[in-house]
Amino acid sequence: MKAHSEEVRSKTLELLRQQRSQQEISNRVGIPIGTVEDWAAEWRKSGMLVGYKRAGMEFMQRAKQMSNGYYPCLRKRYRSMIWSDHVENRQFGFENILQAIHYYLKDRRPRPCAYCGRIPDYGKVWGLDRIDSSIGHVPGNLVPCCSSNHESPKLSCQLSKSKFTLLNWMERSMSRANGGIVPFRVVEQRLERIYTLAKDLGSFEPDKEVPNG
Ligand SMILES: [Zn+2]
Repeated sequence: MKAHSEEVRSKTLELLRQQRSQQEISNRVGIPIGTVEDWAAEWRKSGMLVGYKRAGMEFMQRAKQMSNGYYPCLRKRYRSMIWSDHVENRQFGFENILQAIHYYLKDRRPRPCAYCGRIPDYGKVWGLDRIDSSIGHVPGNLVPCCSSNHESPKLSCQLSKSKFTLLNWMERSMSRANGGIVPFRVVEQRLERIYTLAKDLGSFEPDKEVPNG
Protein backbone atom coordinates (compact mmCIF):
# COMPACT_ATOMS: atom_id res chain seq x y z
CA MET A 1 0.00 0.00 0.00
CA LYS A 2 1.25 3.42 -0.91
CA ALA A 3 2.27 5.55 2.05
CA HIS A 4 0.65 8.94 2.10
CA SER A 5 2.31 12.09 3.29
CA GLU A 6 1.10 13.93 6.35
CA GLU A 7 0.16 16.73 4.01
CA VAL A 8 -2.26 14.50 2.12
CA ARG A 9 -3.74 13.25 5.36
CA SER A 10 -4.21 16.66 6.88
CA LYS A 11 -5.68 17.99 3.65
CA THR A 12 -8.13 15.10 3.68
CA LEU A 13 -9.06 15.81 7.28
CA GLU A 14 -9.53 19.47 6.49
CA LEU A 15 -11.88 18.65 3.61
CA LEU A 16 -13.80 16.20 5.77
CA ARG A 17 -14.17 19.00 8.29
CA GLN A 18 -15.69 21.12 5.59
CA GLN A 19 -18.14 18.31 5.01
CA ARG A 20 -17.03 17.72 1.44
CA SER A 21 -18.24 14.55 -0.21
CA GLN A 22 -15.84 11.62 -0.28
CA GLN A 23 -15.92 11.76 -4.07
CA GLU A 24 -14.83 15.38 -4.11
CA ILE A 25 -12.10 14.74 -1.56
CA SER A 26 -10.88 11.79 -3.55
CA ASN A 27 -10.68 13.92 -6.71
CA ARG A 28 -9.01 16.85 -5.09
CA VAL A 29 -6.49 15.05 -2.94
CA GLY A 30 -5.85 12.32 -5.47
CA ILE A 31 -6.52 9.27 -3.29
CA PRO A 32 -9.11 6.51 -3.76
CA ILE A 33 -12.50 6.88 -2.10
CA GLY A 34 -11.78 3.72 -0.12
CA THR A 35 -8.80 5.44 1.51
CA VAL A 36 -10.91 8.48 2.39
CA GLU A 37 -13.42 6.12 4.02
CA ASP A 38 -10.70 4.23 5.90
CA TRP A 39 -9.18 7.40 7.25
CA ALA A 40 -12.57 8.82 8.21
CA ALA A 41 -13.30 5.58 10.12
CA GLU A 42 -9.90 5.75 11.80
CA TRP A 43 -10.46 9.36 12.85
CA ARG A 44 -13.92 8.51 14.06
CA LYS A 45 -12.53 5.70 16.21
CA SER A 46 -9.78 7.83 17.67
CA GLY A 47 -12.31 10.44 18.71
CA MET A 48 -11.32 13.01 16.14
CA LEU A 49 -14.72 12.68 14.54
CA VAL A 50 -16.37 14.57 17.37
CA GLY A 51 -13.93 17.36 16.71
CA TYR A 52 -14.44 17.26 13.02
CA LYS A 53 -18.18 17.20 13.31
CA ARG A 54 -18.07 20.27 15.47
CA ALA A 55 -15.57 21.98 13.17
CA GLY A 56 -17.79 21.19 10.19
CA MET A 57 -20.74 22.63 12.01
CA GLU A 58 -18.85 25.76 12.95
CA PHE A 59 -17.65 26.14 9.39
CA MET A 60 -21.18 25.90 8.08
CA GLN A 61 -22.52 28.30 10.68
CA ARG A 62 -19.88 30.80 9.71
CA ALA A 63 -20.61 30.40 6.02
CA LYS A 64 -24.31 30.79 6.70
CA GLN A 65 -23.80 33.84 8.81
CA MET A 66 -21.57 35.46 6.17
CA SER A 67 -24.11 34.60 3.49
CA ASN A 68 -26.88 36.56 5.17
CA GLY A 69 -29.77 34.27 4.23
CA TYR A 70 -28.46 33.60 0.73
CA TYR A 71 -26.61 30.47 1.80
CA PRO A 72 -28.88 27.87 0.11
CA CYS A 73 -28.64 29.57 -3.28
CA LEU A 74 -25.01 30.48 -2.86
CA ARG A 75 -24.07 26.95 -1.91
CA LYS A 76 -25.90 25.57 -4.92
CA ARG A 77 -24.07 27.98 -7.19
CA TYR A 78 -20.75 27.15 -5.58
CA ARG A 79 -21.28 23.42 -5.93
CA SER A 80 -22.27 23.66 -9.55
CA MET A 81 -18.98 25.47 -10.26
CA ILE A 82 -17.07 22.62 -8.65
CA TRP A 83 -19.04 20.11 -10.61
CA SER A 84 -18.72 21.78 -14.01
CA ASP A 85 -14.96 22.26 -13.64
CA HIS A 86 -14.66 18.65 -12.59
CA VAL A 87 -16.69 17.40 -15.56
CA GLU A 88 -14.81 19.61 -18.01
CA ASN A 89 -11.48 18.77 -16.43
CA ARG A 90 -10.72 22.41 -15.66
CA GLN A 91 -8.97 23.96 -12.71
CA PHE A 92 -11.16 25.02 -9.79
CA GLY A 93 -9.55 27.81 -7.85
CA PHE A 94 -11.27 27.88 -4.46
CA GLU A 95 -10.40 25.93 -1.33
CA ASN A 96 -13.79 26.38 0.28
CA ILE A 97 -17.00 28.36 0.03
CA LEU A 98 -15.85 31.05 2.47
CA GLN A 99 -13.37 32.22 -0.14
CA ALA A 100 -16.14 32.75 -2.67
CA ILE A 101 -18.88 34.49 -0.71
CA HIS A 102 -17.70 37.99 -1.62
CA TYR A 103 -18.13 37.04 -5.30
CA TYR A 104 -21.85 36.67 -4.77
CA LEU A 105 -22.49 39.32 -2.15
CA LYS A 106 -21.32 42.84 -1.54
CA ASP A 107 -22.13 44.39 1.84
CA ARG A 108 -24.26 41.28 2.41
CA ARG A 109 -26.49 42.01 -0.60
CA PRO A 110 -26.46 40.13 -3.93
CA ARG A 111 -24.13 41.61 -6.51
CA PRO A 112 -25.69 42.73 -9.79
CA CYS A 113 -24.78 41.11 -13.10
CA ALA A 114 -21.40 42.58 -14.08
CA TYR A 115 -22.51 42.88 -17.69
CA CYS A 116 -26.07 44.23 -17.61
CA GLY A 117 -26.48 45.39 -14.02
CA ARG A 118 -29.62 43.36 -13.26
CA ILE A 119 -30.09 42.15 -9.72
CA PRO A 120 -31.25 38.57 -9.06
CA ASP A 121 -34.71 37.59 -7.84
CA TYR A 122 -35.50 37.70 -4.15
CA GLY A 123 -33.38 35.31 -2.10
CA LYS A 124 -31.11 34.48 -5.05
CA VAL A 125 -27.60 35.31 -6.08
CA TRP A 126 -26.13 35.24 -9.59
CA GLY A 127 -23.68 32.57 -10.59
CA LEU A 128 -20.17 33.41 -11.74
CA ASP A 129 -19.12 33.80 -15.33
CA ARG A 130 -15.69 32.74 -16.53
CA ILE A 131 -14.38 35.72 -18.52
CA ASP A 132 -11.85 33.52 -20.25
CA SER A 133 -13.90 30.44 -20.97
CA SER A 134 -10.85 28.36 -21.79
CA ILE A 135 -9.94 28.22 -18.11
CA GLY A 136 -11.89 27.19 -15.02
CA HIS A 137 -13.45 28.98 -12.09
CA VAL A 138 -10.35 30.61 -10.72
CA PRO A 139 -10.08 33.93 -8.90
CA GLY A 140 -9.32 36.75 -11.33
CA ASN A 141 -11.36 35.12 -14.08
CA LEU A 142 -14.81 35.52 -12.55
CA VAL A 143 -17.58 38.06 -12.32
CA PRO A 144 -21.21 37.68 -11.26
CA CYS A 145 -23.42 37.17 -14.28
CA CYS A 146 -27.18 36.82 -14.79
CA SER A 147 -28.34 33.39 -15.86
CA SER A 148 -32.08 33.90 -16.11
CA ASN A 149 -34.36 36.51 -17.57
CA HIS A 150 -38.12 36.84 -17.14
CA GLU A 151 -38.71 37.25 -20.87
CA SER A 152 -36.52 34.37 -22.02
CA PRO A 153 -33.52 32.49 -20.59
CA LYS A 154 -31.80 33.17 -23.90
CA LEU A 155 -31.69 36.85 -22.98
CA SER A 156 -29.56 36.21 -19.92
CA CYS A 157 -25.99 37.38 -20.28
CA GLN A 158 -24.69 33.93 -19.42
CA LEU A 159 -26.46 32.28 -22.34
CA SER A 160 -26.42 35.06 -24.89
CA LYS A 161 -22.67 35.60 -24.64
CA SER A 162 -21.75 31.96 -24.85
CA LYS A 163 -21.36 31.91 -28.64
CA PHE A 164 -19.20 35.02 -28.91
CA THR A 165 -15.94 36.41 -27.70
CA LEU A 166 -16.51 38.77 -24.81
CA LEU A 167 -15.58 41.84 -26.85
CA ASN A 168 -17.78 40.84 -29.74
CA TRP A 169 -20.74 40.07 -27.54
CA MET A 170 -20.32 43.26 -25.54
CA GLU A 171 -20.27 45.32 -28.72
CA ARG A 172 -23.45 43.64 -29.95
CA SER A 173 -25.40 43.84 -26.73
CA MET A 174 -24.38 47.42 -25.97
CA SER A 175 -25.35 48.49 -29.48
CA ARG A 176 -28.68 46.72 -29.17
CA ALA A 177 -29.45 48.34 -25.82
CA ASN A 178 -28.41 51.70 -27.23
CA GLY A 179 -30.49 51.30 -30.40
CA GLY A 180 -27.42 51.96 -32.55
CA ILE A 181 -23.70 51.40 -32.86
CA VAL A 182 -21.81 52.19 -29.68
CA PRO A 183 -18.32 53.65 -30.23
CA PHE A 184 -15.60 51.06 -29.81
CA ARG A 185 -13.90 53.18 -27.16
CA VAL A 186 -17.04 53.01 -25.00
CA VAL A 187 -17.17 49.22 -25.32
CA GLU A 188 -13.52 49.06 -24.35
CA GLN A 189 -14.13 51.18 -21.27
CA ARG A 190 -16.92 48.86 -20.16
CA LEU A 191 -14.66 45.86 -20.70
CA GLU A 192 -11.94 47.54 -18.71
CA ARG A 193 -14.33 47.93 -15.77
CA ILE A 194 -15.24 44.25 -15.95
CA TYR A 195 -11.60 43.18 -15.93
CA THR A 196 -10.98 45.50 -13.01
CA LEU A 197 -13.88 43.99 -11.09
CA ALA A 198 -12.60 40.47 -11.81
CA LYS A 199 -9.15 41.47 -10.60
CA ASP A 200 -10.46 43.16 -7.45
CA LEU A 201 -12.63 40.17 -6.59
CA GLY A 202 -9.68 37.87 -7.21
CA SER A 203 -7.34 39.75 -4.89
CA PHE A 204 -9.83 40.12 -2.06
CA GLU A 205 -8.67 38.10 0.95
CA PRO A 206 -11.66 37.02 2.98
CA ASP A 207 -9.53 35.50 5.73
CA LYS A 208 -8.14 38.92 6.51
CA GLU A 209 -11.61 40.41 6.74
CA VAL A 210 -13.23 37.70 8.78
CA PRO A 211 -12.16 37.12 12.36
CA ASN A 212 -11.42 33.47 13.07
CA GLY A 213 -14.02 32.16 15.43
ZN1 LIG B 1 -26.74 40.26 -17.22
